[in-house]
Amino acid sequence: MPTIKLVKSHRQVTVNKKEYQKVYNTRRWKDLRARKIADNPVCEECERIGRTTPAKEIHHIKPFEIDNDLSLAYDYDNLISLCVECHKQAHEKLRMVGAASGRYSPGIKEGIEYR
Ligand SMILES: [Zn+2]
Ligand SMILES: [Zn+2]
Repeated sequence: MPTIKLVKSHRQVTVNKKEYQKVYNTRRWKDLRARKIADNPVCEECERIGRTTPAKEIHHIKPFEIDNDLSLAYDYDNLISLCVECHKQAHEKLRMVGAASGRYSPGIKEGIEYR
């Protein structure tokens, strides 16, 4: 079973790729995602700076793949509607913050499609 090891606060965190991707196939996630996009059909980051861009993707503000915290995966308040560009930037930011602290590097590991 493929696993990905990430370092968090000097201890190893193992992210199970299968578990991670499984979330996105659940009815629970699909319903939650549909609800969020219905509530916020416009990219929330773009909106903040006065642009109106249709939201294409739903992003987890706090990444649930750390500690495999599935309560974060299904937490409506942890979701944000983003356009493709802002979503890319959100992950870039996470990556930089994570790399700077040495704790976490989402999206770097091969074979995991972070969302
Ligand atoms: Zn945007
Ligand atoms: Zn994301």
